[in-house]
Amino acid sequence: MYIDKPMTDLKFNVAQLLREEVGARREYDFEEAALPLDTETMLRQVVGRVRFTRTASGVLGDVEARGVVEMPCMRCLSPSMQAIAVRFRDEFHSKIEVNTGLPLPEPQEDDPFYITENHMVDLEEAIREYALIELPMQPLCRPDCNGICPICGADRNTEECRCQDEEIDDRFAALKALLKDST
Ligand SMILES: [Zn+2]
Ligand SMILES: [Zn+2]
Repeated sequence: MYIDKPMTDLKFNVAQLLREEVGARREYDFEEAALPLDTETMLRQVVGRVRFTRTASGVLGDVEARGVVEMPCMRCLSPSMQAIAVRFRDEFHSKIEVNTGLPLPEPQEDDPFYITENHMVDLEEAIREYALIELPMQPLCRPDCNGICPICGADRNTEECRCQDEEIDDRFAALKALLKDST
């Protein structure tokens, strides 16, 4: 029995769609346990939906996906889970004509996404590119994270330290000394 189903979670066979008229559509839900974004960052628990629309030179993909990445909190450096959501539309170009097998001209686009010669669209690279843009610049484990004391290294979320008080005391002492000098 033939099942019209993607081979793996982010790969979709669009051969049937490519044989249809421009404007024809297919929709799929997808899930992926883990998608590496770069050497340190993994997008996990990826869930999403894609709609492919037949175009003159391939398919247009409308993608919505979300997942989570673990990043060190910028204040306390403990691991924090960040929710990432991407939404994009991008074209995937055929290299060969689906019915004749003849090569198609190169698309007039910088860095285009391609449909493989087996008529598969792999969303992994596109999701990676769009997810990298969405990574938070200043990830926090929670909005009110107190961070690490720059003087003694104590995690201020779990420990009290008196460094800041002493710093203020020092400043007062300096101020007093200054006032004394000026009188
Ligand atoms: Zn933190
Ligand atoms: Zn301290």
